Order: sequence, then C-alpha cells, then structure tokens
Amino acid sequence: MSAVLRCRPDGPALKRIGLLSNRSLTSRTPVSAGIAARRALHSSHRRPELSRCLARCQSPNTASLVRFKSEAAQPPQAVRRSSALSFLYKGFAYCGFFIFSSGVAVLAFFVYDATTYREEPSAEDIPVSELALNPPRGGPKNLPIAEVLIGEHDSEGMIEARDKPRLVILGTGWGSVALLKHLTPGDYHVTVVSPTNYFLFTPMLPSATVGTLGLRSLVEPVRRIIQRVHGHFLKAEAVDVEFSEKLVEVSQVDANGNKQNFYLPYDKLVVGVGCKTNPHGVKGLEHCNFLKTIDDARQIKNQVLENMELACLPTTSDEERKRLLSFVICGGGPTGVEFAAELFDLLNEDLLYSFPRILRNEISVHIVQSRSHILNTYDEALSKFAEARFDRDGVDVLTNARVKEIQEDKVLFTQVEDGKKVLKEIPMGFCLWSTGVSRSDLCKTLSDKLDGQNNKHALVTDSHLRVLGSPLGDIYAIGDCSTVQNNVADHVVSFLRTIAWQKGKDPQKLHLTFREWREVANRVKKRFPQASSHLRRLDKLFEQYDKDQSGTLDFGELSELLHQIDTKLTSLPATAQRANQQGEYLGRKLSKIAAALPGLRANEIDYGDLDDAVYKAFNYRHLGSLAYISNAAIFDFGGLNFGGGVLAMYLWRSVYFAQSVSFRTRCMLAMDWAKRALFGRDLMSF
Ligand SMILES: Cc1cc2nc3c(=O)[nH]c(=O)nc-3n(C[C@H](O)[C@H](O)[C@H](O)COP(=O)(O)OP(=O)(O)OC[C@H]3O[C@@H](n4cnc5c(N)ncnc54)[C@H](O)[C@@H]3O)c2cc1C
Repeated sequence: MSAVLRCRPDGPALKRIGLLSNRSLTSRTPVSAGIAARRALHSSHRRPELSRCLARCQSPNTASLVRFKSEAAQPPQAVRRSSALSFLYKGFAYCGFFIFSSGVAVLAFFVYDATTYREEPSAEDIPVSELALNPPRGGPKNLPIAEVLIGEHDSEGMIEARDKPRLVILGTGWGSVALLKHLTPGDYHVTVVSPTNYFLFTPMLPSATVGTLGLRSLVEPVRRIIQRVHGHFLKAEAVDVEFSEKLVEVSQVDANGNKQNFYLPYDKLVVGVGCKTNPHGVKGLEHCNFLKTIDDARQIKNQVLENMELACLPTTSDEERKRLLSFVICGGGPTGVEFAAELFDLLNEDLLYSFPRILRNEISVHIVQSRSHILNTYDEALSKFAEARFDRDGVDVLTNARVKEIQEDKVLFTQVEDGKKVLKEIPMGFCLWSTGVSRSDLCKTLSDKLDGQNNKHALVTDSHLRVLGSPLGDIYAIGDCSTVQNNVADHVVSFLRTIAWQKGKDPQKLHLTFREWREVANRVKKRFPQASSHLRRLDKLFEQYDKDQSGTLDFGELSELLHQIDTKLTSLPATAQRANQQGEYLGRKLSKIAAALPGLRANEIDYGDLDDAVYKAFNYRHLGSLAYISNAAIFDFGGLNFGGGVLAMYLWRSVYFAQSVSFRTRCMLAMDWAKRALFGRDLMSF
C-alpha cells in the first residue's frame, strides 16, 4: 500500500513520457506500475524525469522495493485475478464485521434490557409526614392546605428542597417546560400543577391528525422533566388564587367522580396555562373539531377516516358522499393552513391507493379566511406562494370570508364580492375551527380580581413578566396566557425622576439637553427592551420632537415622543417561540433571585424591586416563522424569506427535529417519517 501511495503522485510524469496509460494509473496494481516503469528505464536512460519518478517510487524504504521484486515475477493475468479475489475477501470481511458488530449490539441491548427488570420487590419503609397524609384545613374557603406533599422524602434532593422557597408552576406547556429546564436544581421547592401530565410539541400536531406522525412521538412525560429539579407533580387544575394568603386553589375529580378542591401554598407562582380557542361568538361550534390538544388530533384523525369509510358504503347517496368528503377549515392562520396541507397529502398520497379511486375526485378541501390572504402574519410573498401552491393542488381558498354559523351539515359564511357582502354556504362533512385564541377561565378569574388588568385576551405583565396588580414579585405569567405591557409614555415621570432630583426640579418642568435625553433613552431601553429598536437614532428623534427649536426637550415634547414609540410597539405573538423564550428567561431569573436572597436576608437589606436589581427585563427576539404547505415549506426570517418544495420541507422538518424536547421524541419522529416513506401513513382509527 505504501508503494501505491508513493508511486501515484508521479503518474502524470509517467504519462507525459508515454509509459503509463490512464488505465494503469487508476486500476493497475503497484506491482504492474513498477514493472512498467522499470522496463522503461532500461530502454531510456536519457530521461531524467523518469529516473526521478523511479527514485521516489523505490525510496524511502527497501521493504516496498523487495515487494516489487518478488511480485514482479508473477504474470499480469494472475495479478488481475488476485485483485478480484482480494475485493471478494474484503467484501466478506466487511460483511462479517457488520454481522458481528450487529450481533454484539443486539446482545448488548438484551444485556442492558435484562438489567432494567427487577426480581426483588422494591417495597421499603418510606417516611411520610402526617401533614401530607392529613392536610390541615384553612384559607378563605376552609379547604385542605397541602403544605407537605407525599413524595417529599423520596430523594436527597427532595429532602434538601423542603426548606427552600415554594415555587408553584401552573401548566406543562412550552413556557413551563422551558422554565423547568433552565431552573437551577435545589434552588426552590418546585410543584407543577397541570391537567396534562405530558408536554405536547404543538408545531407538529397537524401531522398527527393524518397519521404522518404518531401521537406518542409528540409528547414527553413531564414527570421526567420535573425530576431534574427534584420537583413534584399534581395532575389537577388551578381554579383560583388567594393573593393575600399566597394560596392557589386547585381542583381535581377523584376516583368516585367527586370534585375535590384544596389549597397549595406558594412563595412564587408562575402562571403558564396557555389559552383556549376563540369562538368569535359564532353559533354551532359543537359541530366543529378543534386542534389544540393531543386528544383533538386523535379525534380529527378518527373523524376523517370515518368519513372516508362511510363514503365507501353502498347505502351512501351521491350527494351524501360529496358532503362527507367536503372538509372545511375555518381560519387561514398557520394551524389551519398546515392542517389543510397535511389533509391534502393524506388524500393525495395514501387514500388514493387504499380507497376506491372515485373518492379522490369527490374530495374537496376549503379554507375560509376572513382576511385578504392566508398566513397574513407572514411576508406577503410567502402568503401568495402558499395560495399558489393550494391553487395548484385544488385546495379551495376563500378569502375575505367570515363564518356566520356552523350547522350540522354545512358552513354558512359571508364573502365580499364587488364590494357587497354575499351569504354563501358549503356542505360539510368535517369542519375544523382554528381562528385564534382567547384567555382561559383561570386568567379571566385572576384578571377580574386584580387592578390594572384591562386586557380581554390575556393577563397583563410588566417587562419583568410580573402580573400587574399582584404583590410585586409574587406572581409571574408566561406564554399565551400573558401579554407584556407596552406603555412607555405612562412611565415618563419615573424616567425623569433621577434628573429632576439632581436638578432639584419638578419632573414636569424639566428641559432635557441632548445628553440628558440620551440618559433617559437608556433608561427607557432598560425598562422596555422592546422599544430599543425605535430608539436607535437619538439625535434625529431629538431634532424631530424639539418642536420649538429650543435645543432642549420639554415634558410635553418628551411625552409625545414616547407616545409615538408606544403606537409602534405591537403585542408579542402567541407562539411556542415566545413562550419558550419567556420560560427560559424566567428560569434564569428565578435562579439569580434564589442566589441573591440569602445574602440580602442575612444583611437585612430591604431589596425593594428585587427582579430589577438582579436581572434585566425580558426582551423578545423574533427568530422567524415557518409553515408547512403540502410537501413544501415557507420560511419567514425577517429579511430572508423563502419558500420551496421537498428540500424546504426537509429543512422544515430538521428545524423541528432539532427543537424536539428529548432524544426519545427525536428517535420516534425519525422512525415515523421513515415508516411513512416505507409503509405509508397510519390509516387506522380507534
Ligand atoms: C396545532 C398548533 C400548531 C402550532 N404551531 C406552532 C408553531 O409552528 N410555532 C410556534 O411558535 N407556535 C405554534 N403553536 C402555538 C404554540 O403551541 C403556543 O403558542 C404554545 O403552546 C404556548 O405555550 P404555553 O406554555 O403558553 O401554553 P401551552 O403550551 O398551551 O400549555 C398550557 C398548559 O397549561 C395547562 N393548563 C391549562 N389550564 C390549566 C389550569 N387551569 N391549571 C393548570 N394547568 C393548566 C395545559 O394542560 C397545558 O399543559 C401552535 C399551536 C397549535 C395548537
């Protein structure tokens, strides 16, 4: 082998002097190359290029030289046969190695698997506090107060956490799980309350409605995530909060079907309960399906397949078949569009082969969208790309159309035609209602109890994610159930306080120089990071709002400037991306607070606004939006927007594959995609 490597670089030299053909360069063995070269040497002593080549071929070690000599005696045909043989030997060797290593891997797996079973019963004496078994009653409603939980002695970490501040987290969605993943273990006594004991990876939920992905590939048991912080989980629903006594009222139906309510004490409470579907006051939503939970996805899949089966029955009339195969999606946002795309894929790729072909011609998919484009929060070019794709696939996109009522067998809607509203209807066998979100019952209850909560869609927080109106630093809200207040102008006095104090003047009578304006702008950016992008050209703003050309900004001019910034700030989107960022932010901040608290308490320091003292305000960074559209995908990364076919779809999949919550879900996602390619979608309904 060493001879081959050394001879090859000189191949071109040999070719130049006409001694080595292309074939000998690539396929001949080192032996034949050596023979040819040496023969040439005998016949052309005057060629220095060749001599140099041979000198390099033969040096530096004599071992290769000896091999040349001994092998040179063999006839060339024998050499060719031996190369074929060696190829075979190598093939067998690789196969053998592959079979052997697979065998070892399977054996290793069985050895590991055997260690996961337990022969001996694992029962042992476990200390449980009497308070956990018989919680005392109290609070405004005289309910049991769960001060101690039954698993508090289960591990060293849990025992240590008993004396730590109590952190209660409501919900197991994107926000809460991101928080749990970023909290330092041992900082808090953590209890998570949620009616669902799993985390749901929502961006892929539309794929589960048609069997592209399995339902279990999208969920992760939340107890496993909570274990990291030595926390506790209670499968129940929070229904109210007693702010003054720091108690959350939790409700659950017991084994006998009776509702049981109890209190859970907290030092810090995080509300991450998400939101519910917005009915928009439309009648007849009981005839619709929704797509928010894993159960919704299961019901949709069953309903779609059931309609297909009914359409095949000989007793089904032609008209009824058409109705059964008419799928209506109310709402042209990302969820509606992705569901329509997945549904089309199912009908186009799988049902065609498994069901009578006539069904394919009778199936219709309609998207009813109230705006002039679907995906209207995306760049317009991408919306148009999606519309063109649906047009090509025969998906009926009805824009400027507003649903009036859903009846058992049809959807009534109005559509603007030539400036006039026209009432229309579509026969429907299946209807998905996916038209935005509204606040949950718990958020409504809390909003009604707190001052300063004037938003009808979510709990309002300050930029440190603390719920407005609640005791400072006690209650936080993250994700879809919350909105961050953008009222920069209302805080104008607080921004001016330091300067006014330094000058000994009333803030309302101040005239800010450019240097002081810069100071104020920095304070605004610190408190409202979302405003930073509107405070880039401070000199221009100063010039623009100094209406009287005095070279200073007076109180009125400054207020107007800040009001203008307020109008440009939009509320944060209700997305997994935002919930995830807020959860991460809060996890880090709560760890900082936990680290700072003992020192502050030991020195008896009144820390006032602790959040502000230990950590920056929350700053949302939009990383872009993606959507799947029938074997294609679109990407909206601010300036960089693009859409494409199958390759873009692979990119879309890769992004979510990387974001998936655990190694287990990643393995399952990969297996589901492979299963779809090999065996088609799962067309069974249970
Ligand atoms: C089909 C679909 C596709 C989506 N696709 C995308 C996407 O591609 N990209 C994107 O960024 N976003 C997407 N979203 C939006 C995203 O899922 C949400 O913005 C995100 O889930 C919000 O996270 P959250 O933590 O606020 O709430 P959720 O994830 O909704 O979690 C709320 C949690 O609170 C629990 N809970 C509810 N009520 C109570 C209560 N009273 N007490 C205690 N717990 C309670 C629930 O059981 C749940 O565990 C999609 C949403 C859907 C439905």
